Amino acid sequence: MTTAAPVAGPGTWTLVVADRIHTLAGPPVEALVLFDDRVAAVGDPRELHERFRLDRTIEVDGVLVPGFNDAHAHPSMTAENLLHVNCSPEVATDEDVLVRLLREEAEAVDEGQWVVGSRYDHTKTTGGRVVDREFLDRAVPDHPVLLTHVAAHWGVLNSAGLAAAGLADASTDPPGGVLGRNASGGLNGVVYEQALFDISYPSLARGRTAVPPSTPAARLRGLARAQQLFHAAGITSMVDALCGPDDVALLSEAARTGQLTLRVAMLVAFPHYDRIAALGLRSGFGDERLRLLGVKAFVDGACAGGNCLVDEPFEGTDDHGMQTMDDADLRDLVERVTGDGVVLAVHANGDRAIRKLLDAHERARASGAPHRRHRIEHCSLVDADIVGRIRALGLVVVPFGSYARFHGDKLVGYYGRDRLERMFAHRTLLDAGIPVAGSSDYPCGPYEPLAAITSCAERRALDGTAIGLSQRISVHEAFGLYTTGAAYAAGEEHVKGTLAPGRLADFVELGRDPFLVPPGEIVDIPVRSTWIGGRLVHAAP
Ligand SMILES: [Zn+2]
Repeated sequence: MTTAAPVAGPGTWTLVVADRIHTLAGPPVEALVLFDDRVAAVGDPRELHERFRLDRTIEVDGVLVPGFNDAHAHPSMTAENLLHVNCSPEVATDEDVLVRLLREEAEAVDEGQWVVGSRYDHTKTTGGRVVDREFLDRAVPDHPVLLTHVAAHWGVLNSAGLAAAGLADASTDPPGGVLGRNASGGLNGVVYEQALFDISYPSLARGRTAVPPSTPAARLRGLARAQQLFHAAGITSMVDALCGPDDVALLSEAARTGQLTLRVAMLVAFPHYDRIAALGLRSGFGDERLRLLGVKAFVDGACAGGNCLVDEPFEGTDDHGMQTMDDADLRDLVERVTGDGVVLAVHANGDRAIRKLLDAHERARASGAPHRRHRIEHCSLVDADIVGRIRALGLVVVPFGSYARFHGDKLVGYYGRDRLERMFAHRTLLDAGIPVAGSSDYPCGPYEPLAAITSCAERRALDGTAIGLSQRISVHEAFGLYTTGAAYAAGEEHVKGTLAPGRLADFVELGRDPFLVPPGEIVDIPVRSTWIGGRLVHAAP
């Protein structure tokens, strides 16, 4: 970046000049004219100079593309996670480091307070073996500990954690959840789905969580750090795919005080739908910074957690995974929310889970539910029957963008190579004319869109293993997932996704032209600066 004039007041005309600008709405250009926070015109810099009475000029050396839009991630969860210990495989590189991180956190928190670690990946940190309560007891005996798996659908507690959560060997599984047990029937510390949500996910818990949420002031600090990470990767918009009341309050307070730089659309967790319905709120309520998108629910477990609901059992087992909402509840929820005309986004990974969701949608549609852009979150494993039914219903799908690359190693073990040809089926879905959006599901996968674009175009795990090569898409299509596709999935294609006149001036300056390098190198392209509404929110040092 060479020069950037200070932000001007309302009514400002700005010329943005770059080496090349991919508007994704036509051929590349070299300049944009902005009026305040929107694109007013695109074209040749000299010609635009003559046409407009400009107040300022921004010149950048790099290549501009529309800002990246992550159609499903968890910024408010990230705000909380960043206040605790990061057990990502990049940090917790092995078992000893994991123990050290947990012990350091135990020393940092007050006596008897929770030690909470997130993004634990047993395949990368503990050699494929899931740690248990005894392991965590040895690491940290005198604080309650919760270590959450990277896929965020299960976690592990130590003995003090089990006690603090009110769990004992005689406890029974909650509806939609499972308490892991050892060979003699005692609790092994692992808690799945609702059993985990009740302990640490205020948005989904049936009562107060045993792990107390951080204070609003602390969470605002966490959110600021989360936004810095996202902006540094070129992200300008995100769907927060699981909001409870605390999260709505966090994001609203950030917006009110000018601290919400990211544009966020919220999916509110289904247990809170009564409140939305009682207030008469509808999808789209809010503004271009923070708005209500719809309602979020779940049918099954996690794809990279190895517990989604599949027709064929996981490789080498007779395990078909977990259904987390029973058929009758799912039917009722789909009928009610879609009947109200509110956007419903349902997490369904496995083919069996997706079929159950489609059954419910078909039934609701037959009974007169109006057409809306309802979404299938993840929609990881498909076949021709599923694809045909999705198309007939006009649903939008939001598959994982980076899982082939990031989780590829463990996916082969869970699903086998053949089934991976039907997973994160970008090629099949796009060819069928189904609207597809790009998503990270961060913290469940890495948030960097450029890494996801490489993943979608290459379909290779980090070690080079092929992960369903038949589902490769072009770099142009992969860009579409994170721009136009994500905008459509949130009902915002009239303001986002391209840099055409009338769209928001959300753009990213890249160090190289992503359309001129091999797909495998896109992941390494530096993000030089990120702009939201014509305002600089990130500049590389
Ligand atoms: Zn998610």
